[in-house]
Amino acid sequence: MNKKKLIIVGAGLSGLYLASRLEKEFDVTLLEARERVGGRIYSQDGHDLGPSWIWPHHTDMQALVKSLGLKLFRQYDKGYALFDTQNRVEHFTSPPSSPLARVEGSLSKLIEKLYTTLTNTQMILNQELLHVEYQKRNIVVTTQNKSYESDYLILTLPPRICVKLTYNPPLPQALKEKMQTTQTWMGNSAKCVVEFGSAIWRERGLNGFVFSNQGPLSEIHDACTDSKAALFGFMSLHQKDISHVNADDLKLKVTEQMVRVFGIDPREIQAIYFVDWKEERFTSVAEDKKSLSSHPDYGIDAHHFDGQLLFSSTEFSHKEGGYLEGALINAKKTAQTLLDYKNL
Ligand SMILES: Cc1cc2nc3c(=O)[nH]c(=O)nc-3n(C[C@H](O)[C@H](O)[C@H](O)COP(=O)(O)OP(=O)(O)OC[C@H]3O[C@@H](n4cnc5c(N)ncnc54)[C@H](O)[C@@H]3O)c2cc1C
Repeated sequence: MNKKKLIIVGAGLSGLYLASRLEKEFDVTLLEARERVGGRIYSQDGHDLGPSWIWPHHTDMQALVKSLGLKLFRQYDKGYALFDTQNRVEHFTSPPSSPLARVEGSLSKLIEKLYTTLTNTQMILNQELLHVEYQKRNIVVTTQNKSYESDYLILTLPPRICVKLTYNPPLPQALKEKMQTTQTWMGNSAKCVVEFGSAIWRERGLNGFVFSNQGPLSEIHDACTDSKAALFGFMSLHQKDISHVNADDLKLKVTEQMVRVFGIDPREIQAIYFVDWKEERFTSVAEDKKSLSSHPDYGIDAHHFDGQLLFSSTEFSHKEGGYLEGALINAKKTAQTLLDYKNL
């Protein structure tokens, strides 16, 4: 029997996981706008420039890591933390928190492994979805240079990107408004990784955590891998000057902060990596630049075109929305919805 066609748009964790769950039952095509897979999961030279952590209660993610033959290790937390404040740097003991885990070799390894499990999925990169149309019980999706037809469609894009597409018939107004007001998680962030010759902070009894009101990095953490010494930091949102500086100036300011906080010789710094997620148009829109005071209350129940169009990025998840775990939980739920349709 001919399989029904399914197009999944977005090859982040949600899209890749959905393809892996559904490629046996459906004829799956996965369309991705970027020239790479992974979405917000992105590493350079083994350093995570998107997500890094898996929390102890994120058991679906832990199980996925294990099932792909990867290992977790604990976020380094031995020693004092530092407070980088005006004119001085103070030591303090970080309050106890639940132990965070990282994936050995970076989270991109998880994406690579997930990608290689796909044996029946047609993956097409550099395809930016622009328009979606429902025609006589078929769905036609149009990218910048091509149209594709399908029985079912799953969009795994952040809600604010979903709402930027055009739909015929259009999305219901209430759904549009809900998507429009749902902030892309970490869409307002900029992450920097600083690589060193050795983990000097560890040698000095520090755990690498720095809270700074001086910037440019407002929050710094240990980011050592099995072969490299590194710290990562988030760029301060309130520092307006930072959003306009060029990459070289930024590296200079980060180096100055490292010297000020850790008292190091700048020659200890081997490389500085940086991704400004606010400027990544396949992650964030202009409205995402605003800072958040707390974790948003995520979860949207959405479908369109008589249920043949489903939505499933992490922001659509009622449980652990925003996190990797939320992407996975919602992808499992969406896959089950589609399998139930198929069996009707
Ligand atoms: C800096 C940073 C730190 C984070 N830290 C953590 C952490 O420590 N722990 C944690 O659990 N979570 C963290 N997160 C959140 C985590 O990254 C996300 O929950 C997860 O990656 C979302 O996966 P997704 O597949 O749902 O969405 P995405 O990864 O955003 O995937 C969507 C995909 O759709 C593609 N796309 C967009 N528009 C189009 C279009 N028009 N046409 C075709 N394709 C399109 C994108 O290119 C992308 O590949 C962090 C995120 C960032 C940015």
